Amino acid sequence: MATIVKLNTGAQMPIVGLGTWKSPTGKVAEAVKAAIAVGYRHIDGAFVYQNEAEVGEGVHAMIKDGVVKREDLFIVSKLWCTFHEKSLVRQGCEKTLSDLKLDYLDLYLVHWPMGFKAGNENFPLDSTGEVIGDNTHFLETWEGMEELVDAGLVKAIGVSNFNKEQIEAILNKPGLKYRPANNQVECHPYLTQEKLINYCHSQGISVTAYSPLGSPDRPWAKPDEPSLLEDTNIKAIADKHNKTAAQVLIRFHIQRNVIVIPKSVTPQRIQENFQVFDFELTKEEMKTILGFNRNWRGCPNQWSTKHKDYPFNTEF
Ligand code: NDP
Repeated sequence: MATIVKLNTGAQMPIVGLGTWKSPTGKVAEAVKAAIAVGYRHIDGAFVYQNEAEVGEGVHAMIKDGVVKREDLFIVSKLWCTFHEKSLVRQGCEKTLSDLKLDYLDLYLVHWPMGFKAGNENFPLDSTGEVIGDNTHFLETWEGMEELVDAGLVKAIGVSNFNKEQIEAILNKPGLKYRPANNQVECHPYLTQEKLINYCHSQGISVTAYSPLGSPDRPWAKPDEPSLLEDTNIKAIADKHNKTAAQVLIRFHIQRNVIVIPKSVTPQRIQENFQVFDFELTKEEMKTILGFNRNWRGCPNQWSTKHKDYPFNTEF
């Protein structure tokens, strides 16, 4: 089983990466170091996680110690919604690069298809608690992203949280220079994304699964919501393989050729989440897990459901 996914740029993207959303400063540098030490070569970050400077510290510590070279690593970041004006895209990327102290990213994603009012507020809200949009369309943002490739700041560009129609809009854009290399979306047994993954793969667009463990530490979690890590059906499959629920949840993506980015700041879990290349789920088990789908989202971006480009009002 491949440990990489080949992108439409020719680059090789490690199929398991370390997630860093909610990884606090004071912990995330150690998490990045622990991950690289046990073999991770892919780190997933974003400007809006507000920890990129410390993610960079972890990366540079491992480079300095001679454990890895920059070119061995695959570093991903994302353009936040307040930088969607074409003239702001470069600024957004340069802020991330300067925080990380890197001169290029391996993959840079448009974090959401929705532009928010530019400024220092990452979530500009109106008095009703709804996000304030800007007048941009992601097709103009995409042109800014293409310029980053030409400027050598990023090796590949992609999208995140885009639905099929929105990806199609990019692919059909007159004068398109670079196709998206990746779409990063929420994916796990309660949101199996079969149609979206099939569509992306048919277009040569790789898919990354975010919140693969169900994002139990998402700030808006409610006690009555389903828990993947405690799902007895997942646990039963894990027991058969002498593996943990987390390992089955991660392995599920690898066998679909989907990249997966579990987050942890706990060294033992970081290691556990990478020990997923020494067992295989049977065809029957894969089918059973796909049957757990209930189109449940941990990250619906509930403040922006009225935004003109909100992605989750269509089937997929
Ligand atoms: P995950 O599904 O990765 O779950 C993370 C949680 O699971 C943390 O509380 C972590 O705890 C815990 N955990 C990790 N490993 C184990 C384990 N082996 N056993 C038990 N518990 C475990 O959630 P995320 O939402 O963080 O998703 C992963 C990454 O995807 C993000 O960090 C981010 O990089 C990306 N993402 C992207 C989004 C986008 O819009 N593009 C949206 C959401 C996520 P602890 O850290 O305390 O060990």
